[in-house]
Amino acid sequence: MPNFAKEQIDILIKLQEIEIENDIIKLKINDVSIKIDALDNELKTFKETIDEEESRIKDWQQKYRSYEADAKINLAKAQKSQEKLKSVKTNKEYQSSLKEIEELKALNSKLEDDMLECLERMDMAEADIAKKKEEYLILTDKVKNEKDNIIQESEQGRKKISQLETTWNTISEKLDPGLIKQFNVVKKIVNGTALAAVIDTVCQGCNMNIPPQMYNELQRFESLKFCPHCQRIIYWEKS
Ligand SMILES: [Zn+2]
Repeated sequence: MPNFAKEQIDILIKLQEIEIENDIIKLKINDVSIKIDALDNELKTFKETIDEEESRIKDWQQKYRSYEADAKINLAKAQKSQEKLKSVKTNKEYQSSLKEIEELKALNSKLEDDMLECLERMDMAEADIAKKKEEYLILTDKVKNEKDNIIQESEQGRKKISQLETTWNTISEKLDPGLIKQFNVVKKIVNGTALAAVIDTVCQGCNMNIPPQMYNELQRFESLKFCPHCQRIIYWEKS
């Protein structure tokens, strides 16, 4: 007659292996949403830099129009002063009008420089945006491919989990119902694996020594034993 405790331990070992594998896959699946968020963010940030640059172009356009309007006003003023020159009566008035015209010309010359600078900056920004838009298309494509891969992997992971769960259910049927309850209780208490090997008298769950008497009994697999320190279900494993 096969050793009942040994048989049960073997089943528990298998169950625990399945659970560990399951947890690893679940972690990976959890990572999927984080990875997808990161990819979406990368894309969003890139798009924002394009938007920012486009809004800067709009600012320069506005500045340009305002410089242009100022220049028109100055020009009209200068023309008026030019007209006035014809009808001035004193030399003082003549000098004053001339001075005004010179000042307006200087203002407009400065405005023309500013307008040129605006145009140059707009050209540069537009070239940069065109380049960035191309890069954005490439990035969009890359992100889409990566997302597809990630989603596919997580689907495979889900399938694997459902297979593992089926296997777990089948195997656990051979287990004593009381033991499975204990297994689950211990899992909750230790917040981790419920089953631990004892190698050279040391419980691998908590790294503490098992009393010699218990260690001897453990090697005979006569009954199920619990670690007196961490409460895990323990079994003897050859070192
Ligand atoms: Zn222990």
